[in-house]
Amino acid sequence: MTDCLFCKMVNGDTPVNKIYEDEDVLAFHDINPQAPHHFLVIPKAHIKTLNDIDDAKLLGKLTLTVSNIAQDLGFADEGYRVVMNCNEQGGQTVYHIHLHCLGGRALTWPPG
Ligand code: AMP
Ligand code: ZN
Repeated sequence: MTDCLFCKMVNGDTPVNKIYEDEDVLAFHDINPQAPHHFLVIPKAHIKTLNDIDDAKLLGKLTLTVSNIAQDLGFADEGYRVVMNCNEQGGQTVYHIHLHCLGGRALTWPPG
């Protein structure tokens, strides 16, 4: 069995607060939300970091999934932020790529 947390979610081996799923991607609420809306979109395939993907179609689909969900949840017009942390200095803690979507409050720039 995999020891990747997000693969376990994809496989149904650990609970997930799911928002959306299709054959390529899974979206779910972040367990430790940093904004009123905070969800993650992941590929079903195990890809460790942004440095390890060259599939432009899949990257595009991940991004479009974020905007579709933000629109469905009703905060797209107010605005939101999409973040992908890469490796240690980028703040990545789960090594299965994911897009963060944060919304529902005014976000500051630059991030810390
Ligand atoms: P990152 O630091 O960019 O790798 O982000 C990992 C994210 O995964 C963090 O925002 C965590 O709160 C989130 N996370 C960790 N475990 C879970 C879980 N079991 N369900 C949902 N989100 C999680
Ligand atoms: Zn994985």
